[in-house]
Amino acid sequence: VDSIDSTEESLNQSWHRQNSISVALKEWDIPYEDLQFDSIVGKGRFGTVFKGNWHGDVAIKMFDIDTDTKMEQQAAFKMEVSMLKKTRHENLVLFMGACMKTPHLGIVTSYCKLSTLHTHIHQRRESFPMNRTVIISSQIAQGMGYLHARGIVHKDLKSKNIFLESGKVVITDYGLFNFTKLCHDDRHANSLHIPPGWLCYLAPEIMHSLRPGKSKVPDEVPFSTHSDVYAFGTVWYELLTGEWPFRSLPPEAIIWQVGKGIKQSLASMQASRDVKDILMLCWSFKPTDRQDFVSLQRTLERLPKKRLARSPSHPVHLSRSAES
Ligand code: ATP
Repeated sequence: VDSIDSTEESLNQSWHRQNSISVALKEWDIPYEDLQFDSIVGKGRFGTVFKGNWHGDVAIKMFDIDTDTKMEQQAAFKMEVSMLKKTRHENLVLFMGACMKTPHLGIVTSYCKLSTLHTHIHQRRESFPMNRTVIISSQIAQGMGYLHARGIVHKDLKSKNIFLESGKVVITDYGLFNFTKLCHDDRHANSLHIPPGWLCYLAPEIMHSLRPGKSKVPDEVPFSTHSDVYAFGTVWYELLTGEWPFRSLPPEAIIWQVGKGIKQSLASMQASRDVKDILMLCWSFKPTDRQDFVSLQRTLERLPKKRLARSPSHPVHLSRSAES
């Protein structure tokens, strides 16, 4: 009798939890019909981003959903949205609301007019002076520190998800990874689908969890605040060198090296010890050895700002051999 009572109690609790999430989310629900879709900005792994209008310019990210698991996806989506609505920080994209009824699941955020760090660094090949590099990085650390303080793990921090809006950093695409994994379950049944440029942001503990075949249940991928710090290390490296770590190594070699705890060599990188130390700390093999964003930001602020991060006349040639 006791076990029947406790099962009933836990079912009740879960019903109440779901119900209170639904009630709390009502004010963030944007009816699909109220949105005006103007143009496609781009297609990502899990859906399409549109420039649109909802009381002004907005970005609308609509997700490709799998009809077989649509109820599961709708529930997962609502869970993620209940986290997004808690975010208010000047270095995070403004979450404005969401379309929460299948088949139209999407989120509406402020529209970023300017370019991502990825575009600045890898397409336009711009190099930033050290003082700008430090300002950008500390704004990223600030936004990320806030997310973590709110109990949200980004799970997909990368230069493509960081906009520079008139000198201000705006981080996008946070906290939706659990839901998006559900959108993609069986498309690559016997192979591991690796989008270009994704691996170098993944911490060793995530590498260990990668398996070919059916995607993992989202909870089994050990994303954490520490894995976000690892990804930040890679963005710091991109800002300093204009390249990704392990550039031109095949995916299998990157997975093997990172999984073993081997880091990109910094031997030929023209930067001071304290700048390199930040990289080594962020890329620590043991998750708990990585600094958190609050102390990272303090470390960044203490860096001398005058030196150049990299000079176009002295291109950095990175050796692929590992530095212990
Ligand atoms: P991935 O799916 O691997 O993360 P991605 O970052 O290119 O790749 P999306 O996040 O879906 O994929 O973004 C698609 C496009 O929309 C990108 O060009 C991105 O820069 C742009 N974008 C995303 N959010 C906004 C926003 N708030 N304002 C303006 N453009 C945006």
